[in-house]
Amino acid sequence: LTDRLQVAMSKLKKKGTVKEEDVKEMMREIRLALLEADVNLQVVRGFTKRVGERSIGVEILESLNPTQQIVKIVDEELTKVLGSEAVELNKSPKIPTIVMMVGLQGAGKTTFVGKLSNFLKKNEKARPLLIAGDVYRPAAIDQLKVIGQQLDIPVFDMGTDTDPVEIVRRGLEQAKENKNDYVFIDTAGRLHIDEPLMDELKRIKEFAQPNEILLTVDAMTGQDAVTVAQSFNEQLDVTGVVLTKLDGDTRGGAALSIRAITGKPIKFIGTGEKLTDVEVFHPDRMSSRILGMGDMLTLIEKAQREYDEDQAEELARKMRENSFDFNDFIEQLDQVMGMGPLEDLIKMIPGMNNVPGLDQIKVDPKDVARKKAIVFSMTPKERENPDLLNPSRRRRIAAGSGNSVVEVNRMIKQFNESKKMMQQMSKGNMPPGMENMMG
Ligand code: GDP
Ligand code: MG
Repeated sequence: LTDRLQVAMSKLKKKGTVKEEDVKEMMREIRLALLEADVNLQVVRGFTKRVGERSIGVEILESLNPTQQIVKIVDEELTKVLGSEAVELNKSPKIPTIVMMVGLQGAGKTTFVGKLSNFLKKNEKARPLLIAGDVYRPAAIDQLKVIGQQLDIPVFDMGTDTDPVEIVRRGLEQAKENKNDYVFIDTAGRLHIDEPLMDELKRIKEFAQPNEILLTVDAMTGQDAVTVAQSFNEQLDVTGVVLTKLDGDTRGGAALSIRAITGKPIKFIGTGEKLTDVEVFHPDRMSSRILGMGDMLTLIEKAQREYDEDQAEELARKMRENSFDFNDFIEQLDQVMGMGPLEDLIKMIPGMNNVPGLDQIKVDPKDVARKKAIVFSMTPKERENPDLLNPSRRRRIAAGSGNSVVEVNRMIKQFNESKKMMQQMSKGNMPPGMENMMG
């Protein structure tokens, strides 16, 4: 979608003023771009009509910079189609807030339960309970349990032989006893929508009276995603949509259509398989992303979320006092690794998504593992006081971590350099080359 729109835009940018024919041609391009991206025909018609009307009017022809105006109009209209504003999770006035997941098999329900409960735990110190309501596949229950273990979040299950409504009843009882503030009900999906599935989901809904029914839709399924969303919504009157697998080069078309066709807000997006790959859906940012303008805010938020504030303060203090040591270094490495591939983060910087050679920037997990091994071969005293690392100690560390002395030296040198850089930054001096990125 992005490529095609960008071509359309750049054609326009080469011309000084915009005439009615230009707008028409541009609309044709946009129309094709949207259809190619699997956006529903009805949605495309409405969209191009509105953009066209606004573009042909005086607003454009008399404005000083017509091309920018059109880009702005397209951006605004895209944002509108996507829902205008971010919509928050519906919360119950008294605990627990009950969130029920629905969607086809493989859409990403179970993964999302992990993602959102982890998100809430980190951001609100929430204490969720996960209920394993997919009783058709033993593997589905295990999958949720593994996720619970990873996140240190309790999972309620009764195996595969109990009716899901009974499981939900008992799960809610447990949540009440333990004063859990959120309950997530993971449910079964099917490869295709069928009556028994819908009936079961209706029974669970009826019983649990969830505050939020989140329909999980796989963005990679294009037009199908819209059909699926439509029928789930008709049967269950969902309260929000989660669009998963919006990572990689997934076409953004589904996002545009689903909101327009169901009228239900997209609340979250899944951007990868990891449990931290989740974002609040912001229509304006999605629009910019579709238009290829990058997504600075999401980038910053992503970095912040991974970064506990206390830790940040502690780090700033250490940087000022120059007491940053190898223990902090390890913590830093883990933070960076937890943020997801560096190249994904860089692509979110405006203008960076098309930079050639970008795919060559990689944080090599092997390199990180080697650095960790070296630090782990240091004694606690050495980790706290890097100045102790004389040649004989370095030889010992090299042998202990299975590296050469050269590698150990290189790693210590890098450590000292980044320490120096951090100290400069903490004094307000950006190292050369960083100003542009931060500005
Ligand atoms: P469910 O059947 O609806 O519960 O779906 P699952 O949560 O089991 O997910 C199905 C598959 O999709 C798994 O392999 C997940 O790792 C993967 N998945 C889920 N969400 C995302 C996402 O946002 N991006 C990517 N790339 N994969 C995802
Ligand atoms: Mg599942």
